[in-house]
Amino acid sequence: MKIKRLIDYNLCLGCGLCQSIYPSKCEILLDKDGFYKPVFRENLTYREDKHISELCPAIQIRGNKHSGSWGDILYLCEGWSKDRDIRHKAASGGVTTSLAIYLIENKIVDGILQVGVIKNNYLLNELKQSSSRDDIIQNAQSRYAPAALFKNILEILESNNKTYAFIGKPCDIAAIKNITTKYPEYQHKIKYCISIFCAGMPSYNATIKAWRQSDYNDAPVKLKYRGDGWPGLFKAEWKDGRSFTLNYNESWGKILGRELGLRCKMCPDGIGMLADISIGDSWSTKDGFPDFSEQEGRCFVIARTEKGKDLIKMASSDNYIEEQPLALDSIAKSQPYQAQRRKLTLWRLIPLQIKTRFLLRFKNLNIIRLGFKADLISAFKTLIGSTRRVF
Ligand SMILES: Cc1cc2nc3c(=O)[nH]c(=O)nc-3n(C[C@H](O)[C@H](O)[C@H](O)COP(=O)(O)OP(=O)(O)OC[C@H]3O[C@@H](n4cnc5c(N)ncnc54)[C@H](O)[C@@H]3O)c2cc1C
Ligand code: SF4
Ligand code: SF4
Repeated sequence: MKIKRLIDYNLCLGCGLCQSIYPSKCEILLDKDGFYKPVFRENLTYREDKHISELCPAIQIRGNKHSGSWGDILYLCEGWSKDRDIRHKAASGGVTTSLAIYLIENKIVDGILQVGVIKNNYLLNELKQSSSRDDIIQNAQSRYAPAALFKNILEILESNNKTYAFIGKPCDIAAIKNITTKYPEYQHKIKYCISIFCAGMPSYNATIKAWRQSDYNDAPVKLKYRGDGWPGLFKAEWKDGRSFTLNYNESWGKILGRELGLRCKMCPDGIGMLADISIGDSWSTKDGFPDFSEQEGRCFVIARTEKGKDLIKMASSDNYIEEQPLALDSIAKSQPYQAQRRKLTLWRLIPLQIKTRFLLRFKNLNIIRLGFKADLISAFKTLIGSTRRVF
C-alpha cells in the first residue's frame, strides 16, 4: 500500500488532504516530532489507497513539460508593494499580499485561500479563507512551520459557489493541481495559484527550539518568523511585554533550516513551477552569495502563465505593486541554493526511489536533464550522502 509506505519512509508532508478525502477513516494529528501525520482508523482498501496516492502532493507532482532550469517563464521581474506598510510588514516585498488584495478589491475572486496562524495561538497554522484587505494583511509574512491546510479542502470547495485564489508553497500548489485534475468540477473555483519559493518546512519543534534560545521557559503568546523589515527578525513575545529576537541567520540558518523532514530534502520543486505566479526573495548578492542584511523588501516574481502575467501587469498599472523587468540570469544569482538544488535532485532521488520501489511520481519536471548539468563532484557527493541517509 503506497500511503503506508510513504508514512513509514517518513515522506508524508502532513498536508491533511487524505483526511479531506476519507474523513471517516483518516485523521491528521500532530506527531511528537512536530509534524502532522495522518492516522488511519481502519485499513484503506486498494482503491482508496490508489485514490489518495493520485492526489497526494508528496507522491504525485505533474509538471508542465517546461524547458530550462526554472520552469515556464513568461515574465520575470523584481517588485514590491506600493503600500509602504505592506512592504514593511510582509516577508519580502509584499507582492503576494498586494496581488491577493488586488484580486479581492477588484472582485476577480471571492476569497483567498492561504496559510495563517490559528487565532490566540502563537504556534499552530491553519488554512484561512480571507475575504478582505485586513484578513489578507493579517496572514502576510512567512510561517516556517507545518500546516495541515488541506484537511477540509474538499468540504470548502463543495460547500459554496465562491471562487478563490490559492497561495501556498510549491507542494501545496501541486496538491491543488492534483485536486482540480481529479475533480474537474472544482477547476473553475481556483482561478489563480500563487506560489512562494520554498527551501523546506521545519517542524513545530524547531520553532520551540528557536524561542527556547531565550532565557524564558513559558510559552510566548505571539511569534513571527520574519517580516517587519527585510528579512526582518524572528520575534517571540510574551503577555507581560517580554520579547526575544533572532536574526535571519540565527533563526533560519542555525535552527529552522536544520529541522526539515526527509521529503523536503528530496523536493524537486522549491520554485513553484506549477503556479501562475511564483514569488521569492530578490536577495542582493555579495560574492555570489545572498546578502541577508536588512533592507527595504524586494520580491523576485515569475509569471508562468498568461493570466499570471496579466495579473502582474494589471496590479502594477493600478498601483498595487511596483515592478521592473529582470534578466533571466538574475535568478541563479539571487537564488543560488535553488539553482543548485534543481541540479542535484536527481542524485538525491536515485537511492530513495530504489529503496521505496519508485514510490514518488514526479513527471515533466526536467529532473534528469538538469541532473546531468550538475558538476561531477557535487553530484557524486549528493548521491553518496543520500544513499547513506536513505539506507
Ligand atoms: C517554509 C518557507 C520556506 C521558504 N523558503 C524560501 C526560499 O528558499 N527562497 C525564497 O526566496 N523564499 C522562500 N520563502 C518565501 C518567502 O519567505 C516569501 O514568502 C516570499 O518571498 C513572498 O514574499 P512576500 O513579501 O510577497 O510575501 P507576503 O506578502 O508576506 O505573503 C506571504 C504569503 O505566504 C503565505 N504563507 C506563509 N507561510 C506559509 C506556509 N508555511 N505555507 C504556505 N503558505 C504560507 C501567507 O499566507 C502569505 O499569503 C519561504 C517561505 C516559507 C513559508
Ligand atoms: S495526502 Fe498529505 S497528509 Fe496524506 S499522505 Fe499525502 S502528504 Fe501525507
Ligand atoms: S521544500 Fe518542497 S516539499 Fe518541502 S515544504 Fe517546500 S515545496 Fe513542499
